Amino acid sequence: MGKTEKYDHMKVIGEYAGGYKKLITLGRCLAGISAIMTLIPYYELWKIIRTAVNGENTNQIKTYAFISVGLIIGALLVYIAALLCTHIAAFRVQANMRSSLMRRIITLPLGVFDEDGTGKIRRIVNDSTAATETFIAHTLADKTVAAVTPVGLLVLVFAFNPVMGLICMIPAVIGFCCLMKMMGKGMQEKMKEYQDALENMSSEATEYVRGVPVVKTFGQTVHSFKRFKECIDGYCKWATDYTLMLRFPMAGFMTCINAVFAFIVIAAFWVTGDGIANADILNIMYYIIITPLITIALTKIAYSGESEMNLIDALKRAEKIMDIEPLNESRTAVNPSGNEIELKNVTYRYKDAVRDAVKNVSLTIKPGEHVAFVGPSGSGKTTLAELMVRFFDVTGGSILIGGVDVKDISSAKLMEKVSFVFQDSRLIKKSIFENVRMAKPDASEAQVLEALKKAQCMDIIEKLPDGIHTVIGEKGTYLSGGEQQRITIARAVLKDAPILILDEATAFADPDNEAKVQAAFEELSKNKTLIMIAHRLSTVMNADRIFVMEGGKCVESGNHEELISKNGLYKKMFDEYTKAAMWKVGA
Ligand code: ADP
Ligand code: MG
Repeated sequence: MGKTEKYDHMKVIGEYAGGYKKLITLGRCLAGISAIMTLIPYYELWKIIRTAVNGENTNQIKTYAFISVGLIIGALLVYIAALLCTHIAAFRVQANMRSSLMRRIITLPLGVFDEDGTGKIRRIVNDSTAATETFIAHTLADKTVAAVTPVGLLVLVFAFNPVMGLICMIPAVIGFCCLMKMMGKGMQEKMKEYQDALENMSSEATEYVRGVPVVKTFGQTVHSFKRFKECIDGYCKWATDYTLMLRFPMAGFMTCINAVFAFIVIAAFWVTGDGIANADILNIMYYIIITPLITIALTKIAYSGESEMNLIDALKRAEKIMDIEPLNESRTAVNPSGNEIELKNVTYRYKDAVRDAVKNVSLTIKPGEHVAFVGPSGSGKTTLAELMVRFFDVTGGSILIGGVDVKDISSAKLMEKVSFVFQDSRLIKKSIFENVRMAKPDASEAQVLEALKKAQCMDIIEKLPDGIHTVIGEKGTYLSGGEQQRITIARAVLKDAPILILDEATAFADPDNEAKVQAAFEELSKNKTLIMIAHRLSTVMNADRIFVMEGGKCVESGNHEELISKNGLYKKMFDEYTKAAMWKVGA
């Protein structure tokens, strides 16, 4: 059913299940037994009708009835046992899948998380494993029932009156053909499109919600979120096309499964052509009861087919994460000597991009130097900073820290050397204490407090109910963007790495926060190599050296005075900046 491509999903599930594979098999066997047990009462029913029609011993009816009830209860119990087995196995598979995904995710280059979007990854880890769990826990048992029942039913249908059975099977056969057509080729593709559309809408919706402040502030209309609208429109079109595609087979299927009674009437006329006998009444009554069961079985097959396609899609998505190249850890890890940073012809192109985001950048940053990167948006500043901490590996050239290529430094060592505060640094839903201590898991409370003090966070702590042990995001304790930023700075202070990278770290801070954030940075960058990326040129004026980026290249460098006298891009940016700043003062 539905296997348009050769994809052995049971093998994949088996790999995740390990020893629990046997439990899945046991569950399926029990489900099969339960299906057979459910069918036997129909034979008893036939005997009951026969006894009644022929006016035979009514005591017999009681016996048949008790056997039936007993079998049905028995079947239910066996089915529960089957579900128990498949559920235990399903939970195990889900747990194994999640942990192997998470183990993989930890080894991935950090850059993956903005390239592919954390939203997408989260969806795969949550939803794909949940789909797999549902499939194993419920669908597998149902599928066995759906396979066993029609066979048993066929036996029951043809055993008593083959002619009537044959006529009653006509709608079932046509219905089955319609079903096969629906499940046929293109369906797996459609399911993939459906999941893709959901994924896109979910990540665009997040973007949209994040952008609401901009919409409100600048009085833009919702139409400025073109991509969001486009993906909703795309989904709408998909849904319409899909519905239209299924219109005829679905109508056929529904007509057939609902037409069974019409065929029973035809069959009744057929077999009673020359006078009605007791045996005919018995058969007609029996067929009225049993034939609809075939359609129920067909519907079950349809659903389990759909859920199987969902599963295949889910497994493939999980595989896609497993297929991302992890960051290669050098086996011969070399310890860097010193903190000098040297970029040699560094080039980087994002996957599937048409041009380099960073092109042939060569420069050296001396230990203890304070440098700044400025340039128009999209000029490659963030990319360059991310390359230095190996969010990605360069596509050309090399980056050396302390004379050693970053690829040859173990990631633990590299993280010891560098700390970074990015614009959207987030806090996790734990206490402030634990959030800060993430930088240095063995730090004492006194050390954490010291770091918070240096990062100018004491005013935040004072107003929280449980001080540094207040859990962020709980009981309405939310911190503003600027406040969160100061906490992440405290994290960097505690880490005390010799190299510090700040990417537009003050861009979102309000004036009150900005002054504090600035003070925190000054404290933080004492005796350290500082690499700063900033919008506000006022914050970079004092840097020892400023690198001006444009179109992925470093086009100018020097200190503020030198760059102003060069009368180039920096001068132009500075003039515009001062104009804007003055305009603000005037207003
Ligand atoms: P800046 O920080 O100077 O604004 P970035 O380094 O963010 O610039 O971006 C440099 C270029 O790389 C831009 O053209 C941008 O569109 C592109 N870029 C940035 N991030 C990605 C990404 N995850 N995938 C593809 N292209 C990207
Ligand atoms: Mg940037």
